[in-house]
Formats: sequence, structure tokens, C-alpha cells
Amino acid sequence: MYTAIAANILFPLHERLKHHTTVAVHRGMEEAQWWDTKRLQALQLERLCALLTQAQVHVPYYRELFGRIGFEPLSMASLNDLARLPFLTKVEIRSHLEQLKADNATGLARFNTGGSSGEPLIFFIGRERVSHDVAAKWRATRWWGVDIGDPEIVVWGSPIELGAQDRVKQLRDKLLRTKLLPAFEMSAHKLDGFIGEIRAMRPKMLFGYPSALAHIARHADERGIAMNDLGIKVAFVTSEALYDHQRSQIEKTFGCPVANGYGGRDAGFIAHQCPAGGMHLTAEDIIVEIVDPQGRVLPHGESGEIVVTHLATGDFPFIRYRTGDVGVLDDQPCPCGRGLPLLKAIEGRSTDFVVAQDGTVMHGLALVYVIRDLPGVRQFKIVQESLALTRVLLATDSQFDEANIGKILSGIQQRLGSEVRVEIERMDEVPKEKSGKYRYVVSHVVPSSGINSDRRSTT
Ligand SMILES: [Zn+2]
Repeated sequence: MYTAIAANILFPLHERLKHHTTVAVHRGMEEAQWWDTKRLQALQLERLCALLTQAQVHVPYYRELFGRIGFEPLSMASLNDLARLPFLTKVEIRSHLEQLKADNATGLARFNTGGSSGEPLIFFIGRERVSHDVAAKWRATRWWGVDIGDPEIVVWGSPIELGAQDRVKQLRDKLLRTKLLPAFEMSAHKLDGFIGEIRAMRPKMLFGYPSALAHIARHADERGIAMNDLGIKVAFVTSEALYDHQRSQIEKTFGCPVANGYGGRDAGFIAHQCPAGGMHLTAEDIIVEIVDPQGRVLPHGESGEIVVTHLATGDFPFIRYRTGDVGVLDDQPCPCGRGLPLLKAIEGRSTDFVVAQDGTVMHGLALVYVIRDLPGVRQFKIVQESLALTRVLLATDSQFDEANIGKILSGIQQRLGSEVRVEIERMDEVPKEKSGKYRYVVSHVVPSSGINSDRRSTT
């Protein structure tokens, strides 16, 4: 009953107040998910022409680019013509941040992300884009029998989100029954608190990093606390590679299936798993290309870098945006009958946990935030070699203030322990992983599980 009120009255009202079109977009998506490939591609082409025309008329960066290469949006005959445009890289976004804003943009909000790769990035998101990304997530939760307004626990690590818990947002979260648990610190004491909150709320859905949810699950097991009697319908995981052992741990402890997702603040809500197992692309909004190291588009079934064009980004276009992630497209249909195409595999996405000297396990993002926001940082990678030694590989440009080296040292010691030796290695390019992707946190320290890392006896 409450869910129906939230989904049909409170949420639509909230979105209208924020000038979002989420409700209408969601209605369209519920229908379009059943369309066949041909019809979905026709929709993509129509929306692509509209996006590129908007970019040509209103976005200085693209007006200049199209003029220079002689590209005319209305001359596009098929989706293949998209390959005539150059890629949008993080370097391009960084050096053309202002020129990428549309002169008719509405409600631009600034975001800063380590993204799905190790290079920090500042970019903007308009209202249209927010509406579409929220609608795509809403649709995906309904595949699993969860609607807006159903109680949800979010285990997340972004201090931006945590810091932005203003009163309006708190009220919204309360009305829509979303509760945020900060995934930064995972001490046994904190984990006990999380387990208590999950038991008290009895959420329909869990949402978070697979590593964080698996960690909470393992802790509940070790404490002998049952979590499979709460009526949780699904655990949505995203932002990291999902390992089999994590999936089985989460499924066993919470007694619910795990739905894997792929996307990010920068690239949007790209794909999510349905109950039949298919990883469906949000094809109405996002065109995915897979490219080889030379930038050539690869056929379905071949592995390469994931490049996305987000069709709802007229305010700050993401056109042929290089994610740095590696994946494979599938041309087989999903047994669920939805026409939305499938992403077969995503490789090379990962963030590790790191372990402080006192045994506290925390999400790698806790260290990422120490470095990510410093001006002039181009690339970085943090390698926790042991409890006593952490290395930082750092590539900077001329904007970098050398005084910030001290901030990096003290920031990392603050989180990992004051005795930790931090070695900073300066370089022109931080080397990629074998997969071709940047990992920004790698830890070689194995967390001693759960109860052994209990700090309550000493604090
Ligand atoms: Zn499916």
C-alpha cells in the first residue's frame, strides 16, 4: 500500500518539483523494452540525430568540431555513421570543460568521479540526463519485483553523496524509504551496526558495491545472525567486478538473487541484469560500441573497450565516450523476451578493499578521495603492498601544486595508520593493467575476516 502511494504520488510529485521528467521517461521505457532490434535501432537513430543537432547548434565544442571535419548530423543514414565522429576522452573533457556545456542547458550539476577508471574527471549532468538515469534504474528494479517506495538499503562510499544529505534529501529518502549506509569504514563494530539496521528495516532491496555487500554478509555469517528471513527480493550490485564467491556469499546470506549492473556517474546506467540472467543495455538511451586499441569498431562477440553515447546528454554531451572498461556485446536474444540487447561480459573493473594497520577494512575509494580532487592530478594508482607500505603512482600536469604531496602522505596515513610508510612515485604515464584498464586501488593485503578485526576490545 505505502509503495503504491510512493510510486504513484510522492515520487512523481518530487520529480515534478525538481523539473525531472522521470515518470514519463519510465513509462516509455516499460513499453520499449519489449520492442524488437529494428524498432529500437530506429529509435536510437532518431534520438542520435536529435542529440547531434542539439550539439551542433548549442554546444561550442561540437559546433567547432563538426565544422572542422565537415560533419552534418542530418546526413546520418544509419547508426554506423556514428563512427565518423572522433572519441570523447577524459583528456578532451578535462581540456574543454566549459565548451562542452550547452548554451541552453538547464540545471547543470557538477560531478567529480574516479569513474570506472583511474583518471579523475570533472563533468556536468543536466536535468534530462538525471531523469533518464533514474528511470532506467527504476525499470530495472521492477524486473525483480521492486518498485519505487519499497524500502531499500544503499551501501555506498561517495562522500559527495554522504555530504549532500541535506534536509530535503533526508526527507526524500525517508518518504521513499531509502537508507544509506557509508561503505567507507568496515570495522567489525560498524558491520554490527549495519546488520542491525538491515534487520530493523527489512528492505526489499539492497544496492551497493559487491565487495561491500559480500563483506557484510560474511560478517553476519560469522556472528551467526540469519539475514535470509527479511524478505529481501534482490541485491543490486554495481561499480566493481562481481566475483563468483561474492555472488554466492550474498545469495546465501541474504537469501536473494544478485543482479549485476554496469554503469557510472560519467557513463550513465548502461546495463543491468534481468532475472533470466541477461545483462540488458539501456538501449533507448545508450548506444554501446566495442572498439579495438586502434579505435576500430568490433563486431558482436569480440572483446574491446566499451564506448558509450548517452542520448539524453544534450546539456553536456557524452558522444563516443571512452570508458576505459573492456567488454563484449552479445547478439543472442534473452530468454525473458525483452528486445534490449545484451552485454555478454565486462572485464577489468575492480576496486579493492584496503586494510588499515589496526585491522579496519575500508573501501579503496576512501584512499581515492585523498588524491582525486587535487588539481593537476592526471592519473594515479594506489598499491597497498603490505600493512606497513603503500605506494602511490602519480602522473601530474603543470597545475599540480607540490605542496599537495604532503596532503597525500598525511591523508593516506590518516586512514591507514600513522606508522604506514607511503612512497610516492612520479611518472608521465601510470601503466595500465593487462586488460588495458586502469585500476586505481590495488591491495595485496588480505583482510583477516570479520571477528578477528574487531576493534571494540581495544577502543
Ligand atoms: Zn532478459
